[in-house]
Amino acid sequence: MLKLYNTLTRNKQDFKPIGKTVTMYSCGPTVYSYAHIGNLRTYIFMDLIRRALRYEGYKIKGVINITDVGHLMADGDDGEDKMIKASREQQKTPLEIAEFYTHIFMEDLAKLNIKCPEIVAKATEHIDDMIQYVVALQKAGFAYETSDGIYFDIAKFSGYGKLSGANLDDQIAGARVEVNSEKRHPADFALWKKADPLHIMQWDSPWGKGYPGWHIECSVMSQKYLGKVFDIHSGGVDHIPIHHENEIAQNEALTGEQSVNYWLHGEFMLVDGGKMSKSLGNTYTIAQLEERGYSALDFRFFCLNANYRKKLNFTFAGLDAAKVSRERLLAQLAQHKASKVATPIDILDKYRTEFRDAVEDDINIPLALGVLFTALREPKSQDIYALALEFDKVLGLSLDKLPQPKKEKSISLPSEVEALVEARTEAKKNKDYATADSLRKQINDMGYNLLDTKEGVTVTPKAKE
Ligand code: AMP
Ligand code: ZN
Repeated sequence: MLKLYNTLTRNKQDFKPIGKTVTMYSCGPTVYSYAHIGNLRTYIFMDLIRRALRYEGYKIKGVINITDVGHLMADGDDGEDKMIKASREQQKTPLEIAEFYTHIFMEDLAKLNIKCPEIVAKATEHIDDMIQYVVALQKAGFAYETSDGIYFDIAKFSGYGKLSGANLDDQIAGARVEVNSEKRHPADFALWKKADPLHIMQWDSPWGKGYPGWHIECSVMSQKYLGKVFDIHSGGVDHIPIHHENEIAQNEALTGEQSVNYWLHGEFMLVDGGKMSKSLGNTYTIAQLEERGYSALDFRFFCLNANYRKKLNFTFAGLDAAKVSRERLLAQLAQHKASKVATPIDILDKYRTEFRDAVEDDINIPLALGVLFTALREPKSQDIYALALEFDKVLGLSLDKLPQPKKEKSISLPSEVEALVEARTEAKKNKDYATADSLRKQINDMGYNLLDTKEGVTVTPKAKE
């Protein structure tokens, strides 16, 4: 049975979906610039959850949002809108910016073998839904109006802080210098912001022209497509204390029910042991890795070697090692694929069970990869190759796309010699060693050396004298 670590309960729990189709929401990108490798680690994590669910036989209805209204510079409600900043700097309309980066994002997902969730929900296409949601929150007494917007009144929601374990006093201590004196509590957050006339993106609302807060987007779109209670919500750990806490507050204030059964969070990627940031110039994109000669799948493989709940330190030395190791993996697979030998069913089943156990144990992909590597050490066999393809449904490493195997000498053998080699292998399998020896002699007499190795038989022409 699949077990998942739930941030909400701080426990690994048996996964029991509400219905036959698993409902899952994943926080998506803000499309005002390229996704960096840290963001992409989190989307690889999303993909691994989805692949693990399918491996377990579930169907999935997944939603990912595209934040194309922009949101403010920090998690708070103040600062310059990122989309508008990009729009000014790149001299394009916000719509053009959003379309351009959404397209690149989808390309990155495809290169990384990340299957896009079934529903891609753009924030700008759900503005009316958001307005209705805010109106409903206001009617229910959870929101209040100030001169610059509509705010969620967190003091009215007793469950605030349950995901991160922070209490309201921590939130006050952690709040930055308060600039909005009309807020009732420093951690109250904007559901809707009133726009000044110069703001580029704004929509009509009961409170005049304005634009939605960021958190409301995810509450509205998740519930619209998945219902008021759904199975899984995924995202990066940075979203636990504010964004997801705020989503819970909005959802549960309105429905009175726990909205998400399993909260799953992927740990952060660091670069050279520290934080990634534009100012340090270490926020690499997939295109930049490709320019340096790595493929997106080298990066995916690099990520798969670390457990999703552990921080992962990105270095180019680490990526080099991943690249070499992936190439070796593919070369080994090519040899298995070329072999005609069979592997006993019980051995294959042992690996299948070990692999499934690893996946079911909170999606332990490094362990699952270890099972694959052990299996590859078995004598070369097509069955091991077929097994690797089964495992690849979870790993997503394109193991069916192998480089041309290096031509083994035996492949270019004359057909009579090849027939003798096959007959000898068969004789050995039947423990008929006398026949095997006599066949070896015939092969030798025809001018070939034959060597039994762990990897199988190699046949090479004798050096000419
Ligand atoms: P954002 O566009 O900032 O909302 O980020 C998109 C996704 O990437 C979110 O799920 C974040 O939690 C995640 N994320 C941001 N930075 C990192 C990082 N350094 N490592 C892993 N995930 C990250
Ligand atoms: Zn979100």
